[in-house]
Amino acid sequence: MTILPVIPISPDQPDTVLTRRRPSMPPRHLADLDLAARKAAVTALGEPAFRAKQLSTHYFGRLVRDIDEMTDLPAASRARLTGDLLPTLLTPVRELACDDGATRKTLWRLHDGALVESVLMGYPDRITACVSSQAGCGMACPFCATGQQGLTRNLSIAEIVDQVVYLAGVSASGAVTGSPPRLSRVVFMGMGEPLANYPRVIEAVRRLTTPAPEGLGLSQRHITVSTVGLVPAMRRLIAEELNVTLALSLHAPDDDLRDELVPVNQRWKVAEVLDAAFDYAARTGRRISIEYALIRDVNDQPWRADLLGRILRGKLAHVNLIPLNPTPGSKWDASPKPVEREFVRRLREAGVATTVRDTRGREIDGACGQLAAGELTEASAGGAADAGVAR
Ligand code: SAH
Repeated sequence: MTILPVIPISPDQPDTVLTRRRPSMPPRHLADLDLAARKAAVTALGEPAFRAKQLSTHYFGRLVRDIDEMTDLPAASRARLTGDLLPTLLTPVRELACDDGATRKTLWRLHDGALVESVLMGYPDRITACVSSQAGCGMACPFCATGQQGLTRNLSIAEIVDQVVYLAGVSASGAVTGSPPRLSRVVFMGMGEPLANYPRVIEAVRRLTTPAPEGLGLSQRHITVSTVGLVPAMRRLIAEELNVTLALSLHAPDDDLRDELVPVNQRWKVAEVLDAAFDYAARTGRRISIEYALIRDVNDQPWRADLLGRILRGKLAHVNLIPLNPTPGSKWDASPKPVEREFVRRLREAGVATTVRDTRGREIDGACGQLAAGELTEASAGGAADAGVAR
């Protein structure tokens, strides 16, 4: 593991990691607005309308997030525009790298002290950004580190988009060796339940997929929204005419167990959630991804593989098995490899496409809110949460 240099927390900023403030939404940022609203905002500040496009080209086209680097803007304009359109939303607390630099994780502090994380994963043919949609999460899945923290607040559109623009900049700098420099995929699999922050997540997706300079110009198909299965929001997504990939965190094929592993199942049952997911697949023609964290002796029995196979057979779906990443203090562990192999074999035998997710970033608590959870534990234990210190 490499600890990357981070910008130190400046002494004039209160140590919001240790003294938690009341959560509040951040100031407005240009990524919250579409191009027309940006034009209105710059003219309201007494600047010519063309500045909106100029700022947008820097931010979305050249991935410049700091107004001081936009040197073709007069200094007076920069001073006028920064507070209203380019406030700092994300301050890095830690940056960690592993897998020879192919996986990089950033822990961010937001303006109110809330912590969120983003992960960049480089592969030979692509780079994927994994971003957070909420600080904390209200879904309370017992195996998930973020689920244990509860919900702090929704992220704003710009707080979501800015994670991606930052990671696209890191990619473009060539920092991810062995991968192409262009960030091409985004997965909403960081902290939070994206569909519980529905309007902002949808707007963020629009911003990410609108061509530059209005947005980042990514392909809708290369964006994955992952959900515990909030059925009304899934139905709304069907009506949205967006061709994003939908991932459903199923984790159990039966209501008895899913009621425990994904508590929202007590409200929307397996059959209802799958119905909505299959309708999404039918509308978009895109295969849905069924996420299934394999937990030793909990959901990894051969009969559950067979039941899952029967439910998914012939559907536009594939299963993505995730070896459980045990959270600190949890009673649960990943399934042994032979059990995992048997689970895969049975699903494939049933005709269901199945993959096992790689365990990227384990060393750096790569998944599921563990870095932020560690930070909170240290903070509440009175430990130093200083930047750049290995845990
Ligand atoms: N709330 C959304 C997205 C965030 S989590 C959702 O639940 O889909 C992204 C994926 O990681 C989900 O499938 C989630 O269930 C899974 N996950 C969470 N904690 C995990 C852990 N400890 N080990 C393996 N996968 C985990």
